[in-house]
Amino acid sequence: MANLKLQNALNEQINAEFYSAYLYLAMAAYFESMSLRGFANWMRAQAQEELTHAMKIYDFVNQRDSRVTLKQIPQPPTDWESAITALRAIHEHEQNVTELINKLVNLAAAQKDHATYAFLQWFVNEQVEQQQKTSDIVGKLKLLNDAPAGLYMIDAEIHRRVFTPVPEQQAPWQ
Ligand code: MG
Repeated sequence: MANLKLQNALNEQINAEFYSAYLYLAMAAYFESMSLRGFANWMRAQAQEELTHAMKIYDFVNQRDSRVTLKQIPQPPTDWESAITALRAIHEHEQNVTELINKLVNLAAAQKDHATYAFLQWFVNEQVEQQQKTSDIVGKLKLLNDAPAGLYMIDAEIHRRVFTPVPEQQAPWQ
């Protein structure tokens, strides 16, 4: 991929995905401090997923004979007002990430880079899932009005989530 514009944009996206992992991890710590282990566990699984997003792009950039450059990861917030505030922040964040992905897709199309365009389609679908996941929990919290009993219930429900990495496609020489 000789296209520097795309290379820079993909490197920015690697950074954005690492920031997402950082943000989810910061939220995991916040929920740990509130003894809401289910929420903490859910956030931690999200963080792990974000790391795989970053690495997927990292691998793709290398695969295209381009250069990965890692940038500084901004510091995420450490505290939120309440569980629903935290979840709303995360939902908003996912909307921003969707915007970033869409811009990347537009750029790949404008630069006529079909391989990058095709690669990004996975992220387009992934964002639909991410947004749905977060809006689902926000919806439940809204219904329960942040009531402690409701928080306890959701906490127990989402505690079951485990992170299962999707097996990577093997390289042709393996
Ligand atoms: Mg992501």
